[in-house]
Amino acid sequence: MVNKNILRIISDIPENVKLVAISKTKSAEDIMMAYETGQRVFGENKIQEMSAKYEDLPKDIKWHMVGHVQSNKIKYMAPYVDLIHGIDSLKSIKILNKEGVKNNRILNCLLQLKISKEESKFGLGEKQFKEIIHSDEYKEMKNVKIKGLMAMASNTNEKSIIRSEFVHAKKIFDEINNRDKSFEILSMGMSNDYKIAIECGSNLIRLGSLIFGERNY
Ligand SMILES: *Cc1c(COP(=O)(O)O)cnc(C)c1O
Repeated sequence: MVNKNILRIISDIPENVKLVAISKTKSAEDIMMAYETGQRVFGENKIQEMSAKYEDLPKDIKWHMVGHVQSNKIKYMAPYVDLIHGIDSLKSIKILNKEGVKNNRILNCLLQLKISKEESKFGLGEKQFKEIIHSDEYKEMKNVKIKGLMAMASNTNEKSIIRSEFVHAKKIFDEINNRDKSFEILSMGMSNDYKIAIECGSNLIRLGSLIFGERNY
């Protein structure tokens, strides 16, 4: 099923939209089934699980951290992580830069914008988001790069709410991208809202259950 799901999704989405297969809680066998179809980008939300899978699985897999990142966990992913989606403080960016220096890498990340009113969602308000991007402090850091914006819509069946949240994210993304083309990734869309996200301009979707089936925690 996993391979069929991936191939169906890939053939359905526009070419400029990249897929992160969210493999949290899923086995190495499931991941390898996706890998066999050519999928190379996988996402996890727990550092221990991601590092264990990084050790066990082929080294050409690109690992994305999609969960909320506690700054004290950054050092564990810094040696190998490809993209960190859920950054929402200057403090974390400073630690990314420090760990980037230690590992002789440029650590790529996305800043998370809060677009939902739900208390449980992380992310920065529009004002803080722009303050960080345009801060001299960030501009001076050489080993961390903010590659774009990540956002999560409200968990609702009201499509109009989801759409207006994604439209808001796209507007802020465009404002920054217009000035800086290296701010190029717009990560939004999960299994239940990725079609709306793509219509609203997403170029990176994060799909878990649609590929691997429901998760059993
Ligand atoms: C789990 C998770 C996903 C995938 O969710 P599905 O609904 O299974 O597609 C996407 N993004 C983040 C940040 C996640 O934690």
